[in-house]
Amino acid sequence: MTIRFPTSTAGSLPKPAWLAQPETLWSPWKLEGDALVEAKRDALLLSLHEQVAAGVDIVSDGEQTRQHFVTTFIEHLDGVDFESRKTVKIRNRYDASVPTVRAAVARKESVFVEDARFLRAHTTQPIKWALPGPMTMIDTLYDDHYKSREKLAWEFAKILNQEARELEAAGVDIIQFDEPAFNVFSDEVNDWGIAALEKAIEGLKCETAVHICYGYGIKANTDWKKTLGSEWRQYEAVFPKLQASNIDLISLECHNSRVPIELLALIRGKKVMVGAIDVATDEIETPEVVAETLRRALQYVDAAYLYPCTNCGMAPLRRDVARAKLRALSAGAEIVRSEV
Ligand SMILES: [Zn+2]
Repeated sequence: MTIRFPTSTAGSLPKPAWLAQPETLWSPWKLEGDALVEAKRDALLLSLHEQVAAGVDIVSDGEQTRQHFVTTFIEHLDGVDFESRKTVKIRNRYDASVPTVRAAVARKESVFVEDARFLRAHTTQPIKWALPGPMTMIDTLYDDHYKSREKLAWEFAKILNQEARELEAAGVDIIQFDEPAFNVFSDEVNDWGIAALEKAIEGLKCETAVHICYGYGIKANTDWKKTLGSEWRQYEAVFPKLQASNIDLISLECHNSRVPIELLALIRGKKVMVGAIDVATDEIETPEVVAETLRRALQYVDAAYLYPCTNCGMAPLRRDVARAKLRALSAGAEIVRSEV
């Protein structure tokens, strides 16, 4: 990346009200058939335009064509039965009705490759594409076939690798795997989670990232955060192994979190997407507040490796709030550029 402190988002951005119910996760589409296909593409272009207008350097599709960051990917796979739903506790935290794995999982077609080509055709800026990580995928399903979290994660990793290779060929610069589950199941992360992630990136020449956060700003997550005490040290358990992994970038929640910033020393040598925008509040960060978060991170991250970012996806936020937060992110990065 030639630009210093390139800004980006964790992935999702709010959808227009004509496409899906705003401020809602798993929001149903308001259109169907060809009209929906066209509307998703229109929203993708609009989202790109808004990122560019806000000064975001590494752009994304804003996840405008997905209902949910995990479910939409799984919908395209064989072996998963969406008719047979079970209620499970996602990330040990909140109940959700999820589909059941009934047979061997397989990718019958590309999932996002056409969308990625479409985005690539409309911008010359670097693009980042988010996929769910293997561990977060298995945590959003009921498994009635493999009966092993590790085995199912491994199968998903192989599928994600097929998708990622096609995204790379479509011109994606950074492929990101969303692994909020890494903050919850640290023993499994160290036993097989990072190995599964490395399987998912096997053979890729583009850059790869893992996004590990404390979740969207929904009530179940903010309630959970209240139980985590004065210092959030979840990252500490997984950072040493991540530091030794082949992943290029690590995307983290920093601003307004109780993560001790010195934990970043444990991933020295990795590029770090520093979350400087809180997605759990409508309050707009000032550029100075963003700059202060970046300065704190700079104590532990080399300037060339610091990528200002949002804490998590912004899908559940109001559009005007998300726009203002992106502008604050750019302005905060600009302050720090002028200092270093
Ligand atoms: Zn997140």
